[in-house]
Amino acid sequence: MPESLTPAQLELREKAAAFAREELLPRRDGADQARIEILNAAKAASLFTMTQPKAFGGSEASTLELSIVRDELAAHNPPFLHTVFGPGPGVLAGVGEPLKTTHLAPLIAGDKKSAFGFTEPDEAPRATWGVLDGDELIVNGQKSYVTGGASADFINTLVQIDEHGPALVVIDTATEGVERVRDFCSLDGSAHAAFEFHDVHIPKTYIIGQPGEGLPRAMKQIGDTRLAIAANCVGWMRWLLDYLTDHLKAPTRGGKTRGDKEGVRLRYAELRIKAYAARSMLYRTARLADAGENIVNEGIACKVFASEAVGEIVDTSIQLVGGVALIEGHPLETLYRQVRSLRLAEGGSDVLRLNLARGKLELNKGTI
Ligand SMILES: Cc1cc2nc3c(=O)[nH]c(=O)nc-3n(C[C@H](O)[C@H](O)[C@H](O)COP(=O)(O)OP(=O)(O)OC[C@H]3O[C@@H](n4cnc5c(N)ncnc54)[C@H](O)[C@@H]3O)c2cc1C
Repeated sequence: MPESLTPAQLELREKAAAFAREELLPRRDGADQARIEILNAAKAASLFTMTQPKAFGGSEASTLELSIVRDELAAHNPPFLHTVFGPGPGVLAGVGEPLKTTHLAPLIAGDKKSAFGFTEPDEAPRATWGVLDGDELIVNGQKSYVTGGASADFINTLVQIDEHGPALVVIDTATEGVERVRDFCSLDGSAHAAFEFHDVHIPKTYIIGQPGEGLPRAMKQIGDTRLAIAANCVGWMRWLLDYLTDHLKAPTRGGKTRGDKEGVRLRYAELRIKAYAARSMLYRTARLADAGENIVNEGIACKVFASEAVGEIVDTSIQLVGGVALIEGHPLETLYRQVRSLRLAEGGSDVLRLNLARGKLELNKGTI
């Protein structure tokens, strides 16, 4: 639970709070310059390296430590929230040569950018596939929702290799036959691209792990990201509830407060219950992960619950604050757009619920 932290973890939480107050909140303008300054400050505060492996100079923080920092940063609802941590290895964790030198090292050093290619358009005639030919893999297909695709040097791509099954494959975006067919933005403001692959020849050594092992690796990466999403949502809930509390306690013209009304109180209590549950789930799951447990189902539960709860909290807050909260640039308007995408990113809520049910009903796995 967030209450039973060690002195070192409490110190880390205070460091994250100070970072949000002193380095993030004061910056609103000059995005490029601000990013560079935040990056340098995050390095100086030893936050930047928390997501990076020790073999590359990182501090490889535990899941609980990362959750504490993400929760605390988001609890200040600062700008540039996603600028604090350095690039982690993602699905390239633990790869050998040549990928370790050609892609992992430059990724961690910030010299190359990666993206993740998993989602495909519904109308695609066939899932992205590859054929092994000597020392090469020839890839054809499409990926429709690649975050950061326009600036990515390579895409970690899920490919069905004929006669082997799904594999994660590194595809350099500059390779002949890789076509970026569309750039677009989603409601939360993040940028994405759609790609097509036409007879793309890549070295066989760019297959991550063994052919056929792709899905578990992809799911591990997606699982870590789900917990990170849940931690951000939990922090944002805390910010939202503080904001709403101030609003409900402020006197209105008639002398009473909005929080005097019983109908408002019932809704307010409901939001607080959900925030309490989401935060408890997150910290419990982070501890299970650090104890070496398989947390696939718990991670699903945290992400689904936290992303839906923060959506409800921001939506109700807007309703209770009124039309002013919908004016472009109002913090509630901005947060509403930011959190809406999280019920789809890294797996839509419905599909994740089905996965969780299947794990129990058909595979008899999981602890939930
Ligand atoms: C901000 C953002 C960033 C993203 N970044 C990436 C990225 O970097 N890389 C990447 O590959 N993808 C990315 N995605 C895509 C994301 O992973 C998908 O949108 C998500 O997994 C849902 O898949 P889909 O859009 O194909 O919807 P679908 O799978 O078509 O699902 C749409 C809806 O249909 C219903 N549904 C679907 N299947 C079932 C079923 N079996 N049973 C019952 N109902 C069902 C559900 O209600 C579901 O919500 C991103 C998405 C967002 C919003």
